[in-house]
Amino acid sequence: MALASMFPRPATALEVVSRFFSVVKAKADEETAAKAAARTTDKSSPTIFDKIVKKEIPATIVYEDEKVLAFRDINPQAPVHVVLIPKDRDGLTQLSKSDPRHKDILGHLLYSVKVIADQEGLTDGYRVVINDGPNGCQSVYHLHLHILGGRQLKWPPG
Ligand code: AMP
Repeated sequence: MALASMFPRPATALEVVSRFFSVVKAKADEETAAKAAARTTDKSSPTIFDKIVKKEIPATIVYEDEKVLAFRDINPQAPVHVVLIPKDRDGLTQLSKSDPRHKDILGHLLYSVKVIADQEGLTDGYRVVINDGPNGCQSVYHLHLHILGGRQLKWPPG
């Protein structure tokens, strides 16, 4: 192996600036997509997650029981990024649409997070995120919990 490839050179100022702007652009794209989804989505129509539940499209499923399904996010934001959903959406397009009849499934989802985090070996901690509505950058209108871990996460989020 060439010595130069063992000691990669530090990033140039131009590369650092360019990386910064690509992160800013990605965040702006997510916000634009979330706002468009909130405006244009018929919230009562099935989402891509229904197709995953019905196994009509592939997903890397990491956990499943009679009520919930968890699969790896297609665009992971951390070494472990799992999306956990109720199999039956039952009106839960987003957390803010929940009502008292959803208390059981909401508790079931939260306990499933713990089971999945154990299974994924997230012994040093992890984060659970629910994006709600356009300001929360929600893009899929089927309630879901993001389980993120496997690296040091920063706080506060953007
Ligand atoms: P949110 O922006 O909170 O609505 O999150 C939706 C998440 O679903 C995003 O992190 C996407 O990357 C993820 N996602 C969308 N389609 C798929 C898919 N087919 N398989 C796995 N994850 C997906």
